[in-house]
Amino acid sequence: MLEKEKLPRYKPCGGGITPKAASLLDFKIKKELIEGGCFGTQLHYRDYKIEVRTPFKIISFVSRDKFDLYLAEKAVDAGVELRESERVKSVELTKDAVNVRTNRNIYKASAVIGADGVNSIVSRSVRKAFRPKELALSLEAQVPIKQGMIEDQDMSTIYMGYIPRGYGWVFPKEEHLSVGIYGTLSGFGNPKDVFANFLSKLNLDTNIEYHAHLIPFGGYDRTLYSDRILLVGDAAGFVDPLFGEGIPYAINSGRIAADTLVKAYEQEEFSRKVLKEYSNTCHSIFDTYLKDALNVSLLIYKHPTVFVKSIASNKPLLYKGLEIAAGRIDYKQFRKWFLIRIPYYCIRSLFL
Ligand SMILES: Cc1cc2nc3c(=O)[nH]c(=O)nc-3n(C[C@H](O)[C@H](O)[C@H](O)COP(=O)(O)OP(=O)(O)OC[C@H]3O[C@@H](n4cnc5c(N)ncnc54)[C@H](O)[C@@H]3O)c2cc1C
Repeated sequence: MLEKEKLPRYKPCGGGITPKAASLLDFKIKKELIEGGCFGTQLHYRDYKIEVRTPFKIISFVSRDKFDLYLAEKAVDAGVELRESERVKSVELTKDAVNVRTNRNIYKASAVIGADGVNSIVSRSVRKAFRPKELALSLEAQVPIKQGMIEDQDMSTIYMGYIPRGYGWVFPKEEHLSVGIYGTLSGFGNPKDVFANFLSKLNLDTNIEYHAHLIPFGGYDRTLYSDRILLVGDAAGFVDPLFGEGIPYAINSGRIAADTLVKAYEQEEFSRKVLKEYSNTCHSIFDTYLKDALNVSLLIYKHPTVFVKSIASNKPLLYKGLEIAAGRIDYKQFRKWFLIRIPYYCIRSLFL
């Protein structure tokens, strides 16, 4: 396992792990890593403030530096050799191997899993770069919590309307708030100004240190493999385009890739023919889900006012949205539930 950074390293992320994401790991996340969670959300849009509480936990919060170190340690416990501060510079496919060149070594591998995120070097051997319209930008800052700053430690807050096709968030963790904003790359204009504007609207210090990172929108058709190479997580483009949630897909695609490679090793065959199974399994497990999410996100973010007005007059709509966020229902179930109610919601929202 080649990692360009020395762990633990900072990773810009809300650190929201849904119960569904946690259930994909074959071990329980240790308690010390959980820095809070939420049982409801407050949605802000223009003059609207809508609050819904849930009897179920929607999300638990972790800090990615500690969480990712923990995952890496689990891999090492299972026999993986972790090589830190080793940056992959190129990947070259030959007839009988993949040559991976790093800042320190050249490795000859039977197969490679590209888990190197949105700017993946490994993906260059598999697919074209993400087009700008397939990318979101997200900025995040960790704001130390001062007394009286948050009303309710168990609630997350979502702000719509600050950015096209996206939202801002405040997630309360134990010692700090994760404050961030997420939206289409093209919608940001000057990201620094957009973020400063968002922070000042929340009465937060605009001079705080922040980090920016790209996120690929899931739901687009992309090649996931070639001979001897598989792409997982952000490198494969597996992120829910409505919420910007990528951790469950990174975990799940990693598992599927590992299972596929175990079989490939057993057969001593790493050709596309064998590795295709990875792509088929990903398509069947979460491709439809991500495509549905893309359509729902296009609809909601194109007509945020209609959406928010609908929610304001029909809280079950937000409740359903939170059920999706928590992984309790999928978009298909939501769509079925929602479509038959659209005329009713539209009429009700006219009177608000
Ligand atoms: C601001 C922000 C907030 C987010 N909030 C959430 C959230 O609350 N919940 C959620 O589920 N998802 C969230 N996401 C999405 C989530 O962070 C990603 O989908 C997830 O981290 C993808 O995991 P990954 O392992 O594929 O990639 P990454 O987490 O990006 O990991 C890639 C790893 O590869 C290493 N690497 C990269 N290039 C090289 C190289 N050339 N050589 C060696 N190593 C390399 C990196 O250092 C890194 O450790 C958020 C994203 C952003 C940007």
